[in-house]
Amino acid sequence: MRSLSAHARAMADQTRQSSIDEFQCARCGAVYDVAITRLALRAEYDVICNVCQKVMNEWHGTVGRAYKLKSQPAHA
Ligand SMILES: [Zn+2]
Repeated sequence: MRSLSAHARAMADQTRQSSIDEFQCARCGAVYDVAITRLALRAEYDVICNVCQKVMNEWHGTVGRAYKLKSQPAHA
């Protein structure tokens, strides 16, 4: 006789990022979703706006920021 093994349900991956911020390019007004990550390397980072091609943010440290374009300025 065979019983169903009650195998533990794998805990759902916590892929949901809790620290998502919103950032607006000061120059052109494009809006980005910013996911904060942790980097192993301390360095200087900057991010270029996809719309106006200007540096819209820069920082130093071990914090990574992944910018995802959310909405473009109306008058692009
Ligand atoms: Zn911009």
